[in-house]
Amino acid sequence: MKELSRITETFTESVIREMTRICNAAGGYNLSQGFPDFESPKAIQEAAIAAIQGGRNQYPVTYGEPELREAISKKAWDYNKILCNHETDITVTCGATEAMIATLKAIINPGDEIILFEPFYENYGPDGILSGAVPRYVTLYAPSWKYDFEELASAFNEKTKAIIINTPNNPTGKVFSMEEMKEIAALCIKWDCYAITDEIYEHILFEDAKHISMACLPGMADRTITINSISKTYAVTGWRVGWAIAHQNITRRIRKVHDFLTVGAPTPFQHAAAAALSFPSEYYKNLQKHYSESRSFLYSLLEKVGFQPYLPQGAYYIIADTTDLMRKLSVQDAFSFSRRLIELAGVATVPGSSFYSAQEKGNTQVRFCFCKKWETLHAVEKALTSKLK
Ligand code: GLN
Repeated sequence: MKELSRITETFTESVIREMTRICNAAGGYNLSQGFPDFESPKAIQEAAIAAIQGGRNQYPVTYGEPELREAISKKAWDYNKILCNHETDITVTCGATEAMIATLKAIINPGDEIILFEPFYENYGPDGILSGAVPRYVTLYAPSWKYDFEELASAFNEKTKAIIINTPNNPTGKVFSMEEMKEIAALCIKWDCYAITDEIYEHILFEDAKHISMACLPGMADRTITINSISKTYAVTGWRVGWAIAHQNITRRIRKVHDFLTVGAPTPFQHAAAAALSFPSEYYKNLQKHYSESRSFLYSLLEKVGFQPYLPQGAYYIIADTTDLMRKLSVQDAFSFSRRLIELAGVATVPGSSFYSAQEKGNTQVRFCFCKKWETLHAVEKALTSKLK
């Protein structure tokens, strides 16, 4: 048989999703893949059912149903201070996942470089490879996950096409400050490159953390692609509705790629998404309150049982250092640690190495998520306390 695609030999399947399969097979508690195990709001469910029963079951407008694009454009102005035209500047996609790969496919030429902050959300690695981009990594240093400005500045050059910024950040929980966003914006302008922002956790913020959208900074509106989705905010990760907002010249390219990749995101769920985007501010306040409580709970628990967790400012993950526990359990790397924790306590995590370009970098870290119902978190407490203490 002839050789299969060489490019697909250069990356593995997602470890995050693999951990879910291992966890399910073991009947464990899934603190690995970041999806809520509690119900999505009744109102969004009812809107989806109404859309299905109201006959919204055929192909959508390829780049998004007009009602949803109007709702996105209103929300983008109200919450993010991004001015965009729903006719020309928005592409609705199958989740933020498709928005990211479609964006990269739309802007990358062979040999172009992209800058990633490391640790980074696992998908960006294969996304870069599949689009033909050459990645450059800039380290976020624990415990504050601040980058070094000189290191960032020297990652830019004439070949830099784009930088990916995920704020609030998965997996670190870092929320990029205004000062950092301004520094990044200045470098994008200096080197004439694009900023691709993944803002999927924009409503999950703790204490005084503030979400800042790169596209509303001076000089950035036309060179920023703002990616988002309903998955995390409304607890509907399986519905696959996301979007990319960009200047019409970029959007035209993204729409072409999207059209041939997936044709469209599920029609009834687009209508439900439009309804969700007009939820009252109460909804977002409750969401933050809920996640603040589960964050504190998991953080204290991890400290108590021997991890060294880093407190996140946003999103719903906690990275924890496992050096001491690795010694105690006699394991040498993060993947073995994660497997061992499932066997021992039935708790699934993501090995830190999945978020780095080289395995050895995240080898004493694991990532937990806390987007789970209290029942699950209390069961995890019982399991970890009895097995690790
Ligand atoms: N964003 C989620 C995580 O990091 C999972 C996303 C996915 O599996 N598509 O766990």
